[in-house]
Amino acid sequence: MATILISGSGIAGPTLAYWLVRHGNDVTVVERSGALRSSGSPIDVRGPAVEVAERMGVFDQIKAAGTKVTDLVMVNERGRRVGRVNTFAMRRSDDARDVELPRGDLADILFTSVRHDAEFIFNDAIVGLRQHADGVDVTFDRAEPRTYDLVIGADGLHSAVRRLAFGPESRHVRHTGVYVATMPLHEPLDNDHDVVMFNTPGRCVTLHPGRGKALVAFMYRAPAVPDFNYRDTAQHKRMLTEAFKDEDWRVPDLLDKLPDEDELYFDSVSQVVLPTWSTGRVAVLGDAASCVSLFGDGSTLAMAGAYTLAMALHDGGDAFAAYEAKHRQLVEPKQRNVGRAADLLIPASRVGIASRNAAARLWPIAAAASRLRARLKQ
Ligand SMILES: Cc1cc2nc3c(=O)[nH]c(=O)nc-3n(C[C@H](O)[C@H](O)[C@H](O)COP(=O)(O)OP(=O)(O)OC[C@H]3O[C@@H](n4cnc5c(N)ncnc54)[C@H](O)[C@@H]3O)c2cc1C
Repeated sequence: MATILISGSGIAGPTLAYWLVRHGNDVTVVERSGALRSSGSPIDVRGPAVEVAERMGVFDQIKAAGTKVTDLVMVNERGRRVGRVNTFAMRRSDDARDVELPRGDLADILFTSVRHDAEFIFNDAIVGLRQHADGVDVTFDRAEPRTYDLVIGADGLHSAVRRLAFGPESRHVRHTGVYVATMPLHEPLDNDHDVVMFNTPGRCVTLHPGRGKALVAFMYRAPAVPDFNYRDTAQHKRMLTEAFKDEDWRVPDLLDKLPDEDELYFDSVSQVVLPTWSTGRVAVLGDAASCVSLFGDGSTLAMAGAYTLAMALHDGGDAFAAYEAKHRQLVEPKQRNVGRAADLLIPASRVGIASRNAAARLWPIAAAASRLRARLKQ
């Protein structure tokens, strides 16, 4: 039995805790927030993460929490429909069991699966790590210092474990040329099935029905702002207002709500690229290790990576190397695809928007054809 400290109770952290406890380890999870973050951003559980969820016995709960979204509807500045993609048909033609659900619901389901079997410390964070032959001495912001056999950073894009063990964020986090903001809409949409999307060159606004709590997302292309601070909400509100001040459709009304909004999420859409995911007794996982940006199945990779790491530790040997060798095979293709996904969601020109809308009509057919080709090859 090993004593293992996990930093972060998002998606990767509780998934890893679940499997480590099942393998007989003594697990502590430290989470910076006072409770689970309640972000309603819709995220996906796909392919390998579906399998992990099934093995954990939580897939039915995940399905029950799924949104009812079936279509992506593109509109122009007058709100008139200029394109529609049946994303549900695309998923079905892919023969997939993917589920889209609010991030907070997924985090809650994963946490609940292990909450009584691991120790959870909320409202605290690791502030110091010192490795030696017998373990890792950990100091916390609030709790008393403790020593663990292993420490795993599952503390997201701005990971403290990564900073303490691998050096400053600037070395490993790369701005992809896009900023993103989300906030609650505070009113329901016309229906639960359509995500509505409005584009102008380099700008995208979507209205997502969520699950009872509709959400607005703003995305825009911009080079990295030198003094950007992901914790500075006043700066975020200024940047967002400046970026969208000339836009039509519902944007002026949405921006009017910004000054009083206290649930605004804003960040640079970034990738994390680390040459290695472990050093001695410390390893990183999920977005902390390999954030693929919001375009690349990050939640699926977080769950799949947690499972791979837990199995590698259970098998013994050089577990961190085995985890990294296997999981990088899933992560690297996703990181390479990010530019393509950004071009589809946020075309940089009017021509780009028109060709995307025209091509979108063929996506479900293309997805079905690709599935058929794969079947014929079997
Ligand atoms: C707007 C947006 C939309 C997205 N859409 C999608 C999508 O459609 N599909 C998809 O697959 N993915 C999507 N993602 C990405 C997905 O949310 C992440 O990839 C996924 O949540 C990563 O899980 P994680 O557990 O590694 O990190 P996180 O979910 O970020 O969890 C990290 C946890 O660590 C905690 N923490 C942070 N710092 C510390 C610290 N110092 N000490 C202790 N705890 C700390 C945080 O509070 C949090 O609970 C989106 C992301 C965003 C921002």
